[in-house]
Amino acid sequence: AKEISGNSYHFFSAEMDTRSFENVKYENALYKALDNEELVLYYQPQINYHTKQVVGLEALLRWHHPTDGLVPPDKFIPLAEETGLIVPIGEWVLKEACQQLKKWHEKGYAHLNMAVNLSVRQYEQDNLFSIIKQTLEEVQLSPQCLHLELTENHIIKNTDLTLQTMKQLKELGIQIAIDDFGTGYSSLGYLKNLPINMLKIDKSFIQDMTVDEAAITKTIIMLAHNLKLDVIAEGVETQEQAEFLYAQSCHLMQGYYFSKPLCAEEIETKYLHK
Ligand code: C2E
Ligand code: CA
Ligand code: CA
Ligand code: CA
Repeated sequence: AKEISGNSYHFFSAEMDTRSFENVKYENALYKALDNEELVLYYQPQINYHTKQVVGLEALLRWHHPTDGLVPPDKFIPLAEETGLIVPIGEWVLKEACQQLKKWHEKGYAHLNMAVNLSVRQYEQDNLFSIIKQTLEEVQLSPQCLHLELTENHIIKNTDLTLQTMKQLKELGIQIAIDDFGTGYSSLGYLKNLPINMLKIDKSFIQDMTVDEAAITKTIIMLAHNLKLDVIAEGVETQEQAEFLYAQSCHLMQGYYFSKPLCAEEIETKYLHK
């Protein structure tokens, strides 16, 4: 389809029409999705490869569209960000994930952490810190078990407000991770000044692990260790990748090799039974 031919223009315009049609369709439906309880969280285990234990879970949003079935986040999160709907949706995600974690703690799995993704748009709200603090208090969850993931984009767009909020969150005891680490365009110098606890190596480096990616992965792990940050790798799909990471002293991992994101019930039957 990338070939330049007489038909390519028609091909592209047809595709774009479909996309904007989908956007309009989804935009209207997305407004109702939250009220209609069509949003659900899936959870992907995070493993300590040394102990082979599940140490935490990442909450990943799914939309049970009434007619289209399960819609993945790549299809609606950009739209939710454009429209600002990501703010109420993100608040729902936070609360739902915290409540779920609380239930699992009460079932005897009190060591588990929960990682939640936050959108840049949420950091633009001046009440983000108080919302998070209040949610933790309501659910009676200690801040230490909440991990917040943000991408390098957050930091590039970093306003004083973002930085201020990150500082407050970290001071409260929440763990802050930089997601998709290595894919952004920000310089490394910013790292030492940021209130963060963890780097999450982007899955692109793990997946096509050629010589170059392996070198980058090693460098990120060393960087994390030198800066006294935790490091976790995402997108681990094979034992070979896991063994490589382990040999480089990256013990925390997440990926299809261990488990896909699962609904809460599946997590319980697979991982949380005695
Ligand atoms: P992310 O935060 O980088 O999440 C990791 C993505 O990689 C997830 O896609 C996960 O299902 C997928 N993944 C996990 N293990 C593997 C693997 O071994 N191989 C491969 N190929 N993929 C793997 P998902 O669930 O489709 O989410 C896509 C993105 O949507 C997330 O990327 C995140 O940026 C965003 N997202 C998801 N949930 C939320 C949310 O609640 N709030 C916000 N703001 N964004 C979210
Ligand atoms: Ca993430
Ligand atoms: Ca990621
Ligand atoms: Ca991503």
